[in-house]
Amino acid sequence: MKLARTLILILLLTPLLSEAISEAAFTAAREKMIKEQILERGITDPRLLNALLKVKRHLFVGPAFQADAYGDFPLPIEEGQTISQPYIVAIMTTVIAPDFKKKVLEIGTGSGYQAAVLAELAREVYTIEINPNLARKSKELLKSLGYRNIRCRTGDGYLGWPEAAPFDGIIVTCAPDHIPPPLIEQLAVGGRMVIPISYSTTVQDLLLVEKLANGKLKKTNLIPVLFVPLIRGGDAR
Ligand code: SAH
Repeated sequence: MKLARTLILILLLTPLLSEAISEAAFTAAREKMIKEQILERGITDPRLLNALLKVKRHLFVGPAFQADAYGDFPLPIEEGQTISQPYIVAIMTTVIAPDFKKKVLEIGTGSGYQAAVLAELAREVYTIEINPNLARKSKELLKSLGYRNIRCRTGDGYLGWPEAAPFDGIIVTCAPDHIPPPLIEQLAVGGRMVIPISYSTTVQDLLLVEKLANGKLKKTNLIPVLFVPLIRGGDAR
């Protein structure tokens, strides 16, 4: 009788235990990612490192990719799109340097991972996704994770989010071939935008665009990157 009870208890506890073990493995993988891919490459801002530690990247990819969620590469998400490599997420976040006073706009919600990292750091995050399926899923996921400072919209991010402008920071995670004028318009004076610009199907540069006190733009090329293209239309607001 006692043995039967013990066996039942073990059976009941096994799933909980294996979940706890895999959570611990994910946490260890996340810590390793931060040390080897972020810290050792020179990004040391403790607030950003803490945000990367908090956001469980494996929840933003499908089950088939969870084991690889903390690898040093981008991963496929649904609809033929990708979630950026952790280092690229870190660079883009650092470049616009969000803090609690800031309001930021993201173009290309995708899985919602970058939005979650931003939400750990900024006061408010506005994010736009053109693909309705991805938009719905990421909105649900971010809500289920308890983020209350993220607003999601389905539509063409080229147009920005005029009603919520100006933004202290803008992050574009899909590549247009020029800087969308509405985004320049919606960037606050003193604000920073980070955006990949594609010169051809294989050549893109990550650009920092600063709006100076005199309203002029200062553009700095950061690094070569490869993002999915920004597509136009499908504005389903
Ligand atoms: N930031 C995302 C990765 C984005 S991949 C993450 O953390 O997971 C780029 C995304 O941009 C894709 O989901 C794609 O559907 C979206 N996209 C492409 N063109 C767009 C546009 N004009 N407006 C908004 N989103 C767009």
